[in-house]
Amino acid sequence: MDALEYAAVRGLRLSEDRAKRIGELSHQSDVFMTMHGAYYISLASRNLDVRERSKARLIKGLHFAPLMRVRRIVFHPGGYGGLGREEAFTVIRNALREVWERGDGPQSGAFLAPEIAGKINMFGSAEEILRLCVEVEGCIPTIDWAHLYARTQGGIKTRDDYLRILNLYEETLGELFTRNMHFHISGITYTEAGERAHRPLGASWGPDILPLVEIVREAGYRPTFISETPEPVIGALYAKFLLDELERSNQ
Ligand SMILES: [Zn+2]
Repeated sequence: MDALEYAAVRGLRLSEDRAKRIGELSHQSDVFMTMHGAYYISLASRNLDVRERSKARLIKGLHFAPLMRVRRIVFHPGGYGGLGREEAFTVIRNALREVWERGDGPQSGAFLAPEIAGKINMFGSAEEILRLCVEVEGCIPTIDWAHLYARTQGGIKTRDDYLRILNLYEETLGELFTRNMHFHISGITYTEAGERAHRPLGASWGPDILPLVEIVREAGYRPTFISETPEPVIGALYAKFLLDELERSNQ
C-alpha cells in the first residue's frame, strides 16, 4: 500500500509532463515507484527489428524513470528466439549492456529488473535471471514467486524452498540483492508448460506466501512486494495484513 508498479505494459504512452506529475504525486504521497515495461519486449527475437524496438523501449523507460521517480524497471526479456539457451543468454545480456549504456543508466536513478518468467519456453529461470544480474551492470532481479512456482511445477512450497532461492541470490549478489529486493506475489495456476493464469492469494492456489513473509520478518529484509493478483489491491492488503500480524505477534 506504499509502493506502486506503473503498468506500462502496452508501452510507455504518456507525455513528459504527465510523467513529471506522477513523480510529484509519488513524492507528496511517499509512494515508492517502479514500472513494468511492455509485454512485447523480446530481446532475443528472431526478428532483428523487434530486438531493436525492445531495446528502445527499455531505453525510453530509463529516460522517463527520473521524471516519474521510478527506481526499478521490471520487464520480461522475452523468448529464446529459436536459439540455444546459452546463445539466447549472450544475446540478451549484450542487449541489456547496450541499453544501460545508451540509456544513461547510472543517471536514471533506476535499476533494470528482469523478471523470472512463468512459462518454461520463455527466458527467465531463477538461474538465468541471477546470471544476468551478475554480468550486467545496473541489473537487479525481480523474483515473481508465482512464476517460479509455475515454472518449477509447484516447486515453491516450504520454508526451505524459499530459503534456497533467497540464499542463492544473497550469496551471489550480496547487498545489491538484499538492499533492492523486488518481489511479485499472486496465486497462480499452471500446466506442464508453466504459468496458466494469475489468481488471488490464499489457500485455493499456490504458492503459499506465509513462509516467505515469515522469513522476511525474521531476517529483517525490506523487500518491495508488488501484488499481481486479479484485483491487485486486495492481494496487497492481504500481504500487508500477514506482515502486520506477524509483527504484532512478535511484540
Ligand atoms: Zn510478475
